Amino acid sequence: MGKTCKIASCNKNKTITNLFKVPKHSLNKDKWLLFLKSNNISVDGSEIYLCDSHFKDDMIIKSNSRVRLTDNAYPSIDPEQQHPVKPKITIISNERVET
Ligand SMILES: [Zn+2]
Repeated sequence: MGKTCKIASCNKNKTITNLFKVPKHSLNKDKWLLFLKSNNISVDGSEIYLCDSHFKDDMIIKSNSRVRLTDNAYPSIDPEQQHPVKPKITIISNERVET
């Protein structure tokens, strides 16, 4: 069985081009953990892989045939949130409300 992206809502049928292992040490470890936690992934010491669709383009370095993450990279794109988000309507009123 091959490695797969750990994100449950990630489309497993698509062709995964790159998988990145969750680093033991990262400049943005807090952000990694926050992302994993928000996706209900428990960090228990086992190897966790995420595919490249969760990283912004500028966090991925492509050189020659190798692909790696920048030192300060962290996952920030939740596949669930790639769908258009309904705009929140904020009503701003300057009217004074008499109570
Ligand atoms: Zn994924």
